[in-house]
Amino acid sequence: MSAEPPILVVGAGPAGMAAAATLAEAGLRPMVLDKAPSPGGQGWRAPNPAASAPLASFDSDGAEPARERFLELARRGRIDWYPGTTVIDVTRDRLWALGPSGEVDSTTWSRLVLCPGAIERILPLPGWTPPGVYTLGGAQTALKAQACAVGRRVAFVGTGPLLWLAAAQHVACGVEVAVVADTARLGDGLAAAPALLADRDRLRLGLRCTRILRRAGVPVLRGVRAAAIVGEQRVEAVRIATNRSERTFACDAVATSFGLVPQLQLLDLLDVPIRFEPEGGSWFAETDPDGRTPVRGVHLAGDAARVRGAAAAALAGELTALALLEDLGRPVDTARLARLRRERHRHARFARALARAFPFPAALEDAIADDTIVCRCEGITARVLREAVRAFEVGEVNRAKALTRCGMGRCQGRFCGPTMARLVARARGVDLDAVGRLRSQPPVEPLPARARLAEAEPVA
Ligand SMILES: Cc1cc2nc3c(=O)[nH]c(=O)nc-3n(C[C@H](O)[C@H](O)[C@H](O)COP(=O)(O)OP(=O)(O)OC[C@H]3O[C@@H](n4cnc5c(N)ncnc54)[C@H](O)[C@@H]3O)c2cc1C
Repeated sequence: MSAEPPILVVGAGPAGMAAAATLAEAGLRPMVLDKAPSPGGQGWRAPNPAASAPLASFDSDGAEPARERFLELARRGRIDWYPGTTVIDVTRDRLWALGPSGEVDSTTWSRLVLCPGAIERILPLPGWTPPGVYTLGGAQTALKAQACAVGRRVAFVGTGPLLWLAAAQHVACGVEVAVVADTARLGDGLAAAPALLADRDRLRLGLRCTRILRRAGVPVLRGVRAAAIVGEQRVEAVRIATNRSERTFACDAVATSFGLVPQLQLLDLLDVPIRFEPEGGSWFAETDPDGRTPVRGVHLAGDAARVRGAAAAALAGELTALALLEDLGRPVDTARLARLRRERHRHARFARALARAFPFPAALEDAIADDTIVCRCEGITARVLREAVRAFEVGEVNRAKALTRCGMGRCQGRFCGPTMARLVARARGVDLDAVGRLRSQPPVEPLPARARLAEAEPVA
């Protein structure tokens, strides 16, 4: 990697692409690393040509131009683009990444713009471990990137805009959808409706998704208060309970998740302060409004800062890059800054309305049965966690991890961490933030056995 400490951008989703393009167009040459083979991230991923026709209408107008702008700057050498490159560790002056050939290499850095996005919030459902259970994003990615469906008849269980979008995209691609089961009640959506007008395009897309499902005759259940997956060797059905009924829907795959949470691992390694927000019951990294963290030279943008959608992520990436240019003493267009900051408030209003329309079903998580597996990687049940809390008076999640192995597996607690925290807090009778969150440690992503250190440059 380069001799002069470069400006690094981690993640080429909407936020990272916008940040890198803004820096390149200001005459700098950022280095952009992304573990994915192509730019676009989760929201603006380029659809597989075999699936692009039915899916194109779901993509926002900004996706393709943003990808083109980014790739054009990379072609012209204005951006150092490293696809298929996974950042595994970072310190206050150096970053390590695993390249596509299995080499682990490192570089120093002068400024760091972190845009690693968010991951899905999983809620362990009874019977969620046999083959055939995917996250909503996993099912959507199979459709978008590989043009294949995770099942012939798929059930969608969860909450959040991704639930409706992914289900409608499956219908548009001719996949049979067994049911859409949302824990949010109709009342939640109606109460949030006035504030959802803050982003008419996304509101329109949401309403269009419900129309597609209705026209396809897909059963839709709201206010779901219990859900279980049926099937020993593989998924056979889902059982959904609402206040009015309990129904079983035959299916051969289930796509499930309950909203998005920021990816904070790299920020942890840099000791960026992480704060708890009771409102959403989630943890967020500390930044100023333009994405500067309290750690000198470290900037944060997109869903890794605040989960607000692709357009908001792109805007945050641009704002963060402009803040970085200001810090370098470069001239910045103040009118552009002011316009972006106004837009940012509009996106924040919409995101708050979405959080109201699709609240996280905490009661469902509190009610997880003892024999339900919480940590899928290590096969740890809720009973093991609750018994450890009682037996060892555990009051903190990292101690619970050490005692039970929950969170020690391949995902390093990315998926089970939030549920583990809630179960420990409930068993202990304390508030959610009192039990803390799982500490991150390098490598933040699993390394393949073939990984090897890059040959050090021979010292002249
Ligand atoms: C699974 C999922 C599906 C979604 N689908 C849609 C959709 O269809 N439409 C929509 O409008 N919104 C969708 N969203 C929301 C939307 O993705 C986001 O709001 C938007 O893409 C956020 O932009 P971002 O740049 O912050 O993050 P992302 O788009 O998530 O991009 C982050 C990028 O960082 C990379 N990265 C992460 N960690 C590392 C690392 N350690 N090393 C190297 N690279 C790394 C990832 O590969 C990714 O390309 C989805 C979100 C998720 C999680």
